[in-house]
Amino acid sequence: MHSIYLSPGSSYCLYAPTALTGPELKLENNILLTIENGRIAGLKTIPSGNLPGGAGSGAQLIKLDRGLTLMPSLIDAHVHLALDGVSFKDSVSRWDNEEALQSRIIKELQAAAAAGIGAIRDGGDCRNINLSARDNLDEERLSGILKPRIISTGEAVRSENAYGSFLGRGYSKPVEIPAYIEALHAAGVDQVKVIASGLVSFNEYGRVEGKIPAPEELEAVVFHARRLGLKVMAHASSDAAVKRAVQAGVDSIEHGYYAEKDTLQMMAENQVAWVPTIAPVAAGAANSLFNDEVSRGSGLIEKICEEHIEKLRFALHSGVILGAGSDAGAPGVKHGAGLIAEMSMYARGALANRSILKAATAANAQILGLDGDIGTIRCGLKPELIAVRGNPLHDLATLKQVQMRFSTGHFSSAVKRTFSGRAGLIQGSMG
Ligand SMILES: [Zn+2]
Repeated sequence: MHSIYLSPGSSYCLYAPTALTGPELKLENNILLTIENGRIAGLKTIPSGNLPGGAGSGAQLIKLDRGLTLMPSLIDAHVHLALDGVSFKDSVSRWDNEEALQSRIIKELQAAAAAGIGAIRDGGDCRNINLSARDNLDEERLSGILKPRIISTGEAVRSENAYGSFLGRGYSKPVEIPAYIEALHAAGVDQVKVIASGLVSFNEYGRVEGKIPAPEELEAVVFHARRLGLKVMAHASSDAAVKRAVQAGVDSIEHGYYAEKDTLQMMAENQVAWVPTIAPVAAGAANSLFNDEVSRGSGLIEKICEEHIEKLRFALHSGVILGAGSDAGAPGVKHGAGLIAEMSMYARGALANRSILKAATAANAQILGLDGDIGTIRCGLKPELIAVRGNPLHDLATLKQVQMRFSTGHFSSAVKRTFSGRAGLIQGSMG
């Protein structure tokens, strides 16, 4: 894969024999993009072979070979950079080894970039490793691979007694919620992640572990996040947890296993997005790690997975903003490849390739709060783009080998943090 850095200080003319443009990913031939100040300044079709000479304009001409299709970079709406997608235990043991952790995170970001992913949203870890990855890793550390943009949640907002101690240290009493969120905001998170349920049981159909926070608790999280201008993503499985999170006013439901149709309709009415994360369950079905005596051979995980997939079309047709997030980092879900696996699950749910591509580009950009920047080829947005061989509207497998990735770069802020030295962020500021 070729990484092409488009310097915001330079002008470019980018010619594509084929491109998927606009919010509907319209297939167009002989497209010429002009790029100025790091944004798409012009988009037009030109007669074949009639490229601008470039003389006088000062713009650098980049011409894509015939057979290549230009499209927006992919976006993964749910990952955990702190986890490696192989072993939870090994991942956590790496957290206290600065060097090992950093080189692993570099690998994860390289894998995402190589898969054509231009932006990721991290669902959190209790060490705020995702924030460090956003702020501390310079482009040059990634050996020529342009860093995907990272939308960080820092660590998850959760009750100490709830699921997910690896996702966030948690509060002991709901009264601490405002200070918890203020501390996250002060640390520079982009969104807030709240834990509204535990995990789906792979041993008993219909069971979801963990307790659901009280309505007032979830409402407090949303209220204080909003007050600070932060969107809220809710980890919620079980119909009751999803309903309660939607009623509290969250922006997106993550996972959403066992969500009923009326709940999905309520999400559509309230413009709450859905990131179904099928890949970790599909991986669970294939992974003997999860298949204990009860579930082995029972087909339970497959059933949960299939039912989840079946709801995709209903959700989409009901008007739910359907995103795509792999939960990369969960056992069996690798960074980069996980998103392609997730998209192939959508294809199993009989979604049209165009709908699947829209979920992983424009809808995800909206979910990440980046729709004014990326996710679509149109004037005014950043040229965060990829080129694939063939037509992804016909064949999603073209995405398995992304040929080129264009980016204006995401340089780290001046804030310097260590990867493993973040303990105390929450407690410290709550006194
Ligand atoms: Zn997750």
